[in-house]
Amino acid sequence: MNHFDYRNGILHCEDVPLTDIARHVGTPVYVYSRATLERHAQVFQKAVAQAGKVDVAFAVKANPNLAVLRVLAREGMGADVVSGGELERALAAGMAPERIVFSGVGKTGVELAQGLDRDIGQFNIESEEEGMELAAIAAAKGLVADAVLRVNPDVDAGTHAKISTGKAENKFGVPIGHAIAIYTRLAALPGLNMRGVALHIGSMLENLEPLAAAFGRIGTLVETIRSGGLSVSHVDLGGGLGVPYRPGENPPTPEDYGAMVARVTKGWDVTLMFEPGRVIVGNAGVLLTSVIRVKPGIQHPFVIVDAAMNDLARPALYDAYHHFDPVAQTREMMTANIVGPVCESADTFAMARECGAVRAGDLAVFRTAGAYGATMASTYNSRALVPEVLVDGGRYAVVADRIAAATIMGAERVPEWLMS
Ligand SMILES: *Cc1c(COP(=O)(O)O)cnc(C)c1O
Repeated sequence: MNHFDYRNGILHCEDVPLTDIARHVGTPVYVYSRATLERHAQVFQKAVAQAGKVDVAFAVKANPNLAVLRVLAREGMGADVVSGGELERALAAGMAPERIVFSGVGKTGVELAQGLDRDIGQFNIESEEEGMELAAIAAAKGLVADAVLRVNPDVDAGTHAKISTGKAENKFGVPIGHAIAIYTRLAALPGLNMRGVALHIGSMLENLEPLAAAFGRIGTLVETIRSGGLSVSHVDLGGGLGVPYRPGENPPTPEDYGAMVARVTKGWDVTLMFEPGRVIVGNAGVLLTSVIRVKPGIQHPFVIVDAAMNDLARPALYDAYHHFDPVAQTREMMTANIVGPVCESADTFAMARECGAVRAGDLAVFRTAGAYGATMASTYNSRALVPEVLVDGGRYAVVADRIAAATIMGAERVPEWLMS
């Protein structure tokens, strides 16, 4: 469910016609719905509350825009960050430090110290080496870091290889078979308060079985750790819940997920933590674009839009599907290849896509672009960095500027010794 609907034949975000945003801000531009963000935050938190004591941290990398984070902070969400930059964003958006979880396989010493200085709530440690480094930095500061050990449960999430993270060959976490020994050694270090375990097996999961299997293994691990006399008060179950990208697609809902979690974790007696990203922001955004021109092709015409792989990388990166709709509703259909202007064949949003007919100058959207959209944007081909707009009822604000190619170029210089 989201707040992008046709009214009087024009696609609106909440009460704002997308034609208004295109006219005033230009295209391409990401458009987010505040009401949808709030709804998703509420639905998810309510769904997992079925499982008892819970703490939900939004995975900032899915959409790190400050205004988006602010909306989610107001809905009571914490933040799961994976870099010092994301940590500062979460704080700038008003997230309470104690609600911030620091994940990531390659946190530097500087970032670990930054997390300690900022007094964040929890470090998710991904190796014994990282845990030892964190313990030493904390002890030197006279601090004790609350931490959990990320475990790789070796289950196949059944998702795209590039967004799968919980198989033995993936770089994340420690192998589940080594977890008890590592946990035990880390728990003995001054500077660390080992309080539990974490996992995150991948993104865009199409069914709940891999998650249930992984959680089951974690439950067994928790029992074993406790039987060794150590305490476990927190288990972080990660993110990974999918959203429908195609019409008719029905991934598990937050309610299904919450019910599964409640069933599998019954009796664990811990605070359950969650790190949802995509499910919170995915459907809350679209990428609004203009058709530059339509070029005849051998089989199908090429609809060339002014958005490209540098603005929305998912199709090029993961062969991802984004539904394409004209902003002006039409019953006339076409079958087209939808491409951007970037000089790469990968800059293709869809091949042989059946969609509402568009012509040069028309506006259109790629739907479900709120997650892993603007956050992955680049300036490849010396294009501007794509702006972002947040809609709230009948009003909207530009929440990230379009950064012109000239501004990016302004940060470059030719050394004097190349000038003569
Ligand atoms: C990316 C990530 C998430 C969020 O994943 P979604 O599929 O967007 O829910 C959660 N936790 C960690 C550790 C991540 O790296």
